[in-house]
Amino acid sequence: MKKNIAVLAGDGIGPEVMSQALLVLDAVAKQFGHQFTISEGLVGGAAYDKGGTHLPDETKALCQSSDAILFGSVGGPVAQQHLDKWKNCEANSILSLRKLFSFNANLRPVRILPELQALSPLKAEIIQKGVDLVIVRELLGDCYFGEHKQFIEGGMRQASDLSLYTEEQIANVAHTAFRLAKMRRKKVTSVDKANVLAASKLWRTVVKEIAQEYPDIQTENLLVDNCAMQLVINPSQFDVVLTTNMFGDILSDVAAVLPGSLGLLASASLNSSGFGLYEPPGGSAPDIAGKDIANPIAQINSVALLLRLSFGLETEALSIEQAVESTLKDGFRTKDIYRPEAAKDTNLSLVGTQQMTNQILKHLSGVEHHVR
Ligand code: NAD
Repeated sequence: MKKNIAVLAGDGIGPEVMSQALLVLDAVAKQFGHQFTISEGLVGGAAYDKGGTHLPDETKALCQSSDAILFGSVGGPVAQQHLDKWKNCEANSILSLRKLFSFNANLRPVRILPELQALSPLKAEIIQKGVDLVIVRELLGDCYFGEHKQFIEGGMRQASDLSLYTEEQIANVAHTAFRLAKMRRKKVTSVDKANVLAASKLWRTVVKEIAQEYPDIQTENLLVDNCAMQLVINPSQFDVVLTTNMFGDILSDVAAVLPGSLGLLASASLNSSGFGLYEPPGGSAPDIAGKDIANPIAQINSVALLLRLSFGLETEALSIEQAVESTLKDGFRTKDIYRPEAAKDTNLSLVGTQQMTNQILKHLSGVEHHVR
């Protein structure tokens, strides 16, 4: 397969974890006989330094001419957000890309690996039932995009945010969730607040209509307050969780802390024609940048997600995920996931960003033998 990938490494740990993820991509390409053409573009503070803007036109054009985008992270230290270089950096970069490509769905897969059970805030007996779910969040509707107003009426300060959904917006993201469930355990839990909100009532009606096109998928509805609770007390019941923009914003962050480190997860933003941007959900982590201690797994798993969802390369995606898992089974840990006191029988080795990747690459070449 021949594909073009736009690579936007960004700021902080972005470039150092991206370089490692590209080694993995290269290894997979060689192993399976693919040709991935990588074109790097500037974004965030790195772009601002060169041209005074966080998302230059050349970067937009590069993304538009690619088959998928692999994104690192952008932004500066929290204490320096007032500087021009960092002001609105995240919004100018990521939200602009979201708008440019009409990304309408954000996918956040969450898995707790048995090897990392001790890092999770959840109790062992909950994790042992297996936690492997994806939150699918609608990205273009809801109160984030409706009219925002502050006004005074009857001498009282008031404010309102209009939460608006069209049936088309709901149907588009629902199709994404159902298609994803087909590739997984075939269950969609649609989350809303249909006992109160009109937008949620429409959400539930449209999801039910779309569900009829996917008779092999089990569909259920859950109110958002119950879903928040269930994510913590019984997350193994979930496969694909489909929800609105605001509920998804909150629920995906609840789900993101379950594995124990931001350095492990990948996420995807997709539009209705399937074009996607893949990135770790964490930020640029300026506190650890340039020290070779960042966990490269989130960026490496983003490559796996890209291969699976944008190029349909399931075997290649699995080989990366299995190589990561085997490396963790071997006991290799970057600093964010190194808790020797919590790992009873295992001998853990504390490694840096590059050493971690080297171990993953070793397992990938083992897979090469097996696949051929
Ligand atoms: P952050 O996600 O960068 O860091 C939070 C904590 O998680 C830090 O202690 C960091 O060291 C740790 N962490 C994150 N990724 C890690 C990894 N791969 N390995 C090990 N540890 C990791 O959040 P923050 O410090 O609040 O924000 C820093 C900057 O990132 C800000 O400018 C913010 O605007 C930006 N940001 C960008 C994105 C994005 O690019 N998508 C997302 C969130 C925040």
